[in-house]
Amino acid sequence: MNEPHPITINAGTDRADCLRMDADDPLAPMRDRFHLPESLLYFDGNSLGPLPHGARERLHRTIDQQWGDDLVSSWNEHDWIGLPRAVGAKVAPLIGAEADEVVVCDSVSVNLFKLLAAALRLRPGRRTVLCQADHFPTDLYIAQGLVELLGGDVELRTAPVDGLAEGLADALDESVAVVSLGHVDFRSGRLLDMAALTAAVHDHGALVLWDLSHSAGALPVELGACGADLAVGCGYKFLNGGPGAPSFLYVARRHQEQARNPLAGWLGHRNPFAFSADYEPAPGVDRFVCGTPPILALSALDAALELWQDVDLELVRRKSKMLGDLFLALVVDRCAPWMGPLELACDTDADARGSQVCLRHPQGHAIVRALIEKGVVGDFRAPDILRFGLCPLYLRHVDAWDAVAILREVLETGLYRHERFQQRQKVT
Ligand SMILES: *Cc1c(COP(=O)(O)O)cnc(C)c1O
Repeated sequence: MNEPHPITINAGTDRADCLRMDADDPLAPMRDRFHLPESLLYFDGNSLGPLPHGARERLHRTIDQQWGDDLVSSWNEHDWIGLPRAVGAKVAPLIGAEADEVVVCDSVSVNLFKLLAAALRLRPGRRTVLCQADHFPTDLYIAQGLVELLGGDVELRTAPVDGLAEGLADALDESVAVVSLGHVDFRSGRLLDMAALTAAVHDHGALVLWDLSHSAGALPVELGACGADLAVGCGYKFLNGGPGAPSFLYVARRHQEQARNPLAGWLGHRNPFAFSADYEPAPGVDRFVCGTPPILALSALDAALELWQDVDLELVRRKSKMLGDLFLALVVDRCAPWMGPLELACDTDADARGSQVCLRHPQGHAIVRALIEKGVVGDFRAPDILRFGLCPLYLRHVDAWDAVAILREVLETGLYRHERFQQRQKVT
């Protein structure tokens, strides 16, 4: 955490003030576009975004009319074959990319593999992959697996990324081919300076691979303006594409013709239906598709992305910062007697945060479970982080008020100490 930053919401804020903020909120109408269970305060859209009504309708149509009636002709008739690129084109404006720089396919993990391997080939002679030390586990594991596969020839290095780039600068040298960074940290919510870090990496002649899983749809992202090389991101978090939604993958246009997909599947071939024996990459970003696209999942994500056509990302960012400041101010104010064991675990400067707030408590897991029983859905990240995702398309300011009121109640009554909250579930 950086220097403590004064929280801008004043401590006298009450529930009526929150209701007034909701009445003035230009994003308020977006809430009606989602299916949200009446009794839930949903602060976990950064783990699984809720169901957009449009996605449900689209899935029904895709199943009944396309799969059901039109069957295999749908590949042409409904352009199923073009869906990875069409959905990529809808993601593009959310991440500051051009439509022909993004394709949607596979999971984030698989796309990380593809792009790290491609990056090594784009920087021949350089044999180091550099990852931020506290990167999301899959980002680290995939890099470990790739390095292991390449058998001693390639080295994996990790470095802390504090504040701007201090730790990274020490680890960057002429051997580094690619630097893998998370734009927003999944635990603390820390937001990295994409422009400054990309420039620092380029100064050493390396490429940068950004993981946008916690920033796409949460805040404006400017891959193109920052000069980023490669990126991946998640379809089922802030993009609300549904459980297991495919991931997006970005390759800057200037790298596309040299970049090679190590998973050279037939649908990344220049002419899949020539059924030729030799692989020849498709032009542009299309070569990063591997096998047959999951049409149902892509259709749901495609429909979910339509929501953004009516949304100004600057407004999303402004409201997200407001919700975060409000939540933290209410915790400091209304949970004051329990501060000590309870701590703020994110930056109090909204500009340094993505779209989540975090607290820390030795009994964090039990408290999260108790909150869920009371209808406040956040999540727990080991070892002691209580994480609350802030999704401005459907969360209200009054939801922050009510969530903190319930947190206060859980702490005050000690409800979380009950035995039923002690057991860890498979998914936290
Ligand atoms: C959610 C998330 C992933 C998810 O990877 P999958 O392969 O799609 O399960 C990867 N990286 C980060 C940073 C994430 O937050």
